[in-house]
Amino acid sequence: MFSCDQISKVVVLGGGSAGLMAAVTVKRLLPQLDVKLIRSADIGVIGVGEGTTAVFPSHFFETLKVSKEEFYRETQPTWKQGIRFEWGPRDYFNYTFEFQYDAQRQGMSCANGFYADEDCRDLDLPSALMDRGKAFVSGPLGKPLVRGNYAFHIENHRLVTYLEKLAARTGVELSEGTLQSVEQGPNGDVTSITFEDNRRIEADLFIDASGFRAELIGRVMNEPFLPFSSGLFCDRAVIGGWDRGEDPLVAYTTAETMDSGWCWKIEHEHWINRGYVYASQFINDEQALEEFLRKNPKVSNTPRVVKFRSGRYDRSWVKNVVAIGNSSGFVEPLEATALAQIIYGTRWLIELLRTTDLQPSDSSRHLYNTQMGRAWDEIRDFLAFHYKFNHRIESPFWSHCHHDTSLGAYQGLYDYYLDEGPGPLIIHEVPHKPNIYGVEGFLSMLVGMKVPYKRRREPTPAEQQAWKQHSAAIAAKANSAVDSVKALAAIRSPGWVWE
Ligand SMILES: Cc1cc2nc3c(=O)[nH]c(=O)nc-3n(C[C@H](O)[C@H](O)[C@H](O)COP(=O)(O)OP(=O)(O)OC[C@H]3O[C@@H](n4cnc5c(N)ncnc54)[C@H](O)[C@@H]3O)c2cc1C
Repeated sequence: MFSCDQISKVVVLGGGSAGLMAAVTVKRLLPQLDVKLIRSADIGVIGVGEGTTAVFPSHFFETLKVSKEEFYRETQPTWKQGIRFEWGPRDYFNYTFEFQYDAQRQGMSCANGFYADEDCRDLDLPSALMDRGKAFVSGPLGKPLVRGNYAFHIENHRLVTYLEKLAARTGVELSEGTLQSVEQGPNGDVTSITFEDNRRIEADLFIDASGFRAELIGRVMNEPFLPFSSGLFCDRAVIGGWDRGEDPLVAYTTAETMDSGWCWKIEHEHWINRGYVYASQFINDEQALEEFLRKNPKVSNTPRVVKFRSGRYDRSWVKNVVAIGNSSGFVEPLEATALAQIIYGTRWLIELLRTTDLQPSDSSRHLYNTQMGRAWDEIRDFLAFHYKFNHRIESPFWSHCHHDTSLGAYQGLYDYYLDEGPGPLIIHEVPHKPNIYGVEGFLSMLVGMKVPYKRRREPTPAEQQAWKQHSAAIAAKANSAVDSVKALAAIRSPGWVWE
């Protein structure tokens, strides 16, 4: 059923990374729309969200066609080849944006996962680079080949400042204002919103990017919030950092196991940002701060606590309101999924607006909500694997995770793994296709944390030989690679040309 006239005016409420990225993307890809963004200086932005995934650079450089030179200059990113997990029985394992455990090397009868028990560091090139503190393979004249599935670390304030400039240049009308009231028409659609300065703005479509306040989707539309408390228990983070000084700049995020959660280490060029994500039902703020400072004695600023709730709204698109960013849902900081969800949600919105001639039907809204709901739930299930099997520290929190974390729709995948390990048919246990993480993500956690399974495979002598040769070739490439400091210097040098 077509329930609305053709959309021509879009209002974005909120100017954090979600609102700004959504506004820029909508205006760039649907330039015929009039796009206004209003945000409150009094409320401000959340100021976190600094780890990205590989979809982030491709969105900016390929979809939005942003100049790399400008982007690097304005946001000062560092590179991220993956996450180094200090979880489970190994000292650590690396989760990259490539296929590691689910890939199969030439001359081997099984997927890599079967052979990665002993040593998983050189399973793929990004992992080998991470292991040696390198960022990119070296090309002609020793220059870094900045390509492949990499991501960024970006300080939130730099990203927001840059996005504001980009939005204004793209034709988004930006203004200040704090929401005061909302008017709805007889069918429940929002018709206009009024700000404290009495400005009233009308639109056909409202993007709610008001962060955890969820002003429109939650407070006006009263959409039910579905908590993820059956699988994920963390609800706060204490955050602090220090000037890098002599600490080496590496091209990955570190995730360290803590007594009642985990701690990120995000690598900015001159600043190291750490955040202890914890469950307040197991540790209070003072205890979390004490453990955080004990393990990070270099913290030089005043740590701050950020509260969050893990879950999502049942539907992200209700009537003529579409929630994007923390207003539509948030799982938790692990795996840095939120910025990717903003991109995913915005692209889906644009796709549906495009294919319905800017006149979305009820069924297209329904499709949007199904896709977004699945994506959120898949992230929840993926993160559940991280918690359920991490036995590095025995504590009341981790014991609770082992016993009470539900694996959701991926329970079947785990059941198969328990018998068969990383067997070739495990792909059929993935409940939805396409999905975000593939089998790879789940195997990375299971094999990375050495979760036991029954059907073991012993490599033949020929396979052992082939395995060593592959690993040695990857290691050799990584040994001669370029680290982040040199790679940053290279891209800032006068003769640098982006591919
Ligand atoms: C501890 C923590 C760590 C995180 N780490 C990561 C990470 O590493 N990677 C990642 O991808 N994501 C991360 N996230 C998620 C991250 O916060 C979001 O991806 C990102 O910052 C987008 O936020 P947002 O724009 O939705 O909300 P906000 O930044 O909160 O922006 C909300 C906007 O709405 C405006 N607003 C609100 N109410 C009103 C009103 N009444 N009137 C007018 N304007 C209003 C505000 O002024 C602001 O401009 C993390 C989240 C938390 C809690």
